[in-house]
Amino acid sequence: MQLTELVSYLDDVLQPTAFKDYAPNGLQVQGKAEVKKIITGVTASQRLIDAAVEAGADAILVHHGWFWKGEDPTITGQKFNRLKPLIDNGISMLGYHLPMDAHPTLGNNAGLQAVLGLTHEQFIQPVLDDRGIGQIGTGDYTVASLAAKLEAELAFKPIVTEPLTDKPLNRIAWCTGGAMSYLQTAIDLGADAFITGEINEPTAHLAQEFGVAYYAAGHHATERFGPQLIGQHLGEKFDLDVQFIDCPIPV
Ligand SMILES: [Zn+2]
Repeated sequence: MQLTELVSYLDDVLQPTAFKDYAPNGLQVQGKAEVKKIITGVTASQRLIDAAVEAGADAILVHHGWFWKGEDPTITGQKFNRLKPLIDNGISMLGYHLPMDAHPTLGNNAGLQAVLGLTHEQFIQPVLDDRGIGQIGTGDYTVASLAAKLEAELAFKPIVTEPLTDKPLNRIAWCTGGAMSYLQTAIDLGADAFITGEINEPTAHLAQEFGVAYYAAGHHATERFGPQLIGQHLGEKFDLDVQFIDCPIPV
């Protein structure tokens, strides 16, 4: 498959122009014109780059790419170390941040929704008719059973701000990754549970003050879905060898 064809297909599916994002979405580093082998992963870390080179990748597709708003724009130090093997080996880097969170069937949030068996009622912040940032719905869970289910599905023990009791949860919000700042909006929309990847001190207080069960279930752990689902889709649709490489971290 031609790289240009791959990029335009992904742009079509993921609709990056609909999102106001913190990093460029789409092709971030250009490699060879023909793509046969794609490595997908959560983050374009050195570990993933080295594994992709080892695997003979022509392109890497990630959720957390490079060139984030506010970072030092020079290609020096660790940024150079990560970039050099891509250029030396003609490997392209494709990164899709919010568009990969929000895809209605292949996204991170859709994947988390599916494994938890949650219904969708509304988006925390709508973007298009069929996609938005974070979702709210329902599921048959108590504070304790949702913690256990998250740990079982994500292989990550969540931090939970409420005692692990059999108190039923009526309205569950979820937004994969680092969505601390969406807690208040979710509360305003009536959520009594909030699942995301990370937590910080002020967010924990806010959750407790509203009696909301906040689950920090791992930034990496909650964002493995999109790279795997999109990779699987590409492998089924095109003549491509696609492989997901997991590089877990304790956050
Ligand atoms: Zn993320």
